[in-house]
Amino acid sequence: MPSNLHLPAVDVDDVFGKALVHKAVHVERFFLVTWVLEQVALFATLWVYARRGPSFARESAAGPIGTGMLLGMLGLGIVWLVELPFTLLDIWWARRYDLTESGYLEWAFEHWVELGAEFVAICIALLVVMFLARRLGEIWWIPGAAVFVAIGSFFAFVQPYLVSTEPLRNPKLEQAARQFEREQGVGKIPVSVEDVSDTTSQANAYAVGFGPSRKVVLWSTMVDGRFSNGEVRVVLAHEIGHHSSRHIPKALAWFGLFALPSAYVLMRATRRRGGMGEAAAVPLALLVVAAIQLALAPAQALISRRMEAEADWKALQTTRDPADAKKLFVDFGRTDLANPDPPLWAHIILDSHPTLAQRVAMAEAWQARQMQKP
Ligand SMILES: [Zn+2]
Repeated sequence: MPSNLHLPAVDVDDVFGKALVHKAVHVERFFLVTWVLEQVALFATLWVYARRGPSFARESAAGPIGTGMLLGMLGLGIVWLVELPFTLLDIWWARRYDLTESGYLEWAFEHWVELGAEFVAICIALLVVMFLARRLGEIWWIPGAAVFVAIGSFFAFVQPYLVSTEPLRNPKLEQAARQFEREQGVGKIPVSVEDVSDTTSQANAYAVGFGPSRKVVLWSTMVDGRFSNGEVRVVLAHEIGHHSSRHIPKALAWFGLFALPSAYVLMRATRRRGGMGEAAAVPLALLVVAAIQLALAPAQALISRRMEAEADWKALQTTRDPADAKKLFVDFGRTDLANPDPPLWAHIILDSHPTLAQRVAMAEAWQARQMQKP
């Protein structure tokens, strides 16, 4: 991405249509209010649990690590219950605006699977940290952070094999993908389609895996005829751009960079409860980890936005088609009811992508540079 790239101002009412912008702002406001209230409820709950939780530990005969895992699961269960009303409100709102196809029951089932995975994850995390803390004492945070990066890398590598997909049955798009790979200087990256028609009408695509496991996945909503071939070509070039810029290994490196000081903060913060080797430290550890995650959210969102902007620029460079890029971003606004120009605080904390207005502006900036060239 050129460092001197200047993004022109975009009149969102003009580009996206006044009615759509008005509706998207209205829809977004509700989600932002529930998000803020959910954070308040979450931290209040974890605060109380950090104070009261250790008293449950005394009743347990499961040994320190077993008791710590029980306290971790109990904390997660309480958090889930506290967050449930906000999640239900969000589903109600999303259904009202046709942003989701799934009913409450289907959602509950999907959520049980997700919740089960979270339970397993928290147990593994506590097992690793408590075992290392009991063995090594206070320097557990160095090997601890390394183990988390290793686990994160393992899941990033196997993720492509965990989603069930079908091959992309569109020779023109297949051919376009091969052309973009050549132009971006990467080897063959399989492109497949994930059927999401039962759960959502929103459109999305993503790049997963690294090295031999790398893959591009398009949601079925992306190739069901609502988007033109030209628009899907932009999406393909963007996702291949994530791989040719090695964004997934880079994201893992960033994760390591954040994991190390985070683990150190956790070690220091839990000292007064006897350290992470003691079950009584676990409820406080949940509060500390939640606080670290919220504190790091703006930095993580910023890194993600830089990578997304880079992939957008690569897509413009390899498709040389700013018109379809602009059309794609406008259509995203329509299908996802996304506010093209969200409030600054929400953008800084939550947005993993540049705003749709910024993405349109980049397509215009690319076009302007082409015209300046002799
Ligand atoms: Zn992307």
